[in-house]
Amino acid sequence: MKTIYLDNNATTAIAPEVREAMLPYLDALYGNPSSMHTFGGQVADAVETARGHLADLLGASPEEIIFTACGSESDNTAIWSALQTQEDKRHLVTTRVEHPAVLSVMQQWERQGFRVTYLGVDSKGRLDLDEYAAALTPDTALVSVMFANNETGNIYPIQRMAELAKERGVLFHTDAVQAVGKAPIDLKRLPVDMLSLSGHKLHTPKGIGALYVRKGVRFRPLLRGGHQERGRRAGTENVPYIVGLGVAAQLAAKHMQEERTNVAALRDRLEQGITAHVPDSIVNGDTQSRLPNTSNIAFKNVEGEAILLMLDRLGICASSGSACTSGSLEPSHVLRAMGVPFNYAHGSIRLSLSRYTTAEEVDFVVEHFPEVIKTLRAISPFKD
Ligand code: PLP
Repeated sequence: MKTIYLDNNATTAIAPEVREAMLPYLDALYGNPSSMHTFGGQVADAVETARGHLADLLGASPEEIIFTACGSESDNTAIWSALQTQEDKRHLVTTRVEHPAVLSVMQQWERQGFRVTYLGVDSKGRLDLDEYAAALTPDTALVSVMFANNETGNIYPIQRMAELAKERGVLFHTDAVQAVGKAPIDLKRLPVDMLSLSGHKLHTPKGIGALYVRKGVRFRPLLRGGHQERGRRAGTENVPYIVGLGVAAQLAAKHMQEERTNVAALRDRLEQGITAHVPDSIVNGDTQSRLPNTSNIAFKNVEGEAILLMLDRLGICASSGSACTSGSLEPSHVLRAMGVPFNYAHGSIRLSLSRYTTAEEVDFVVEHFPEVIKTLRAISPFKD
């Protein structure tokens, strides 16, 4: 049975070009970039080349990029650094719909005595900019708001939010793990101070990420030890993965425009195909401001996990809620924050595409989806 992979917000396939570029660094070129000899030096050059490619994708300078192990590390580091460099400030601002890599860190600092404002969202998952502006105070050490939501694909007004924070002298971090490579980001114009990203959402293997820190922003490392990454992140560099991330960034820059159009067209074909043929199905999120690859659809009176199991039997990979919360039967914190009615929230499915998704795959899913929901509704314990 062929696998139809529509779970690209959980993780992505490794691009063949990325794999090819990594191979020499898993083989003959195993040197340590910190070594003084030529053998290590050529590896150090590869790390710097990759840093340049990633900086180019974001409109940043190479010195502003710190390689990390994952998006979660980048998020943890940004919050840590903001608090450590402004010890007099005791307030943080975030949203109710962040990924746990931000939300659980905020909750931990709250338990340490910090005040945290969690901004709410409306039924489409949109933030209220007035509520946001009112939350900023002279005591605010950091705003951390995601660029795009992993469950709904909603894109938040980061430009305006970062400008407001800048006007008030408040540091601004954005978790752009889902956005990098899918939405254009130009840090020359977007006044965020820090930005997190993760390779495995961008067609590298899992285990590599980066944190952008704007030049001039004070920084304290989370991981201490050696002087790697100009003393900002200790630990011998993961050279093959860094090289892979550099190539992934080049590919994203090269194909983004064309992919945005193609992937969005396939996503719309999938979404419209399903909702047109399944009664009582609604699209969760803000269809006016969304990532091109993501669709989150709620089916009334069905269990999301049951849908996933039936899709799985057809070889279709999807997700109910975020990858990190799947396995629990509670509707996700994102859908709860949006106030999606319980009998819809329970049956919400996320379908997320990539440049490798084909029209044939989309048509296969559209063809089989109505039958899946019909079968499950016939045996569902939920009734009106
Ligand atoms: N932030 C967002 C929005 C995500 O979607 C994810 C992963 O799903 C992360 C952070 C964590 O990234 P990583 O898996 O690289 O730690």
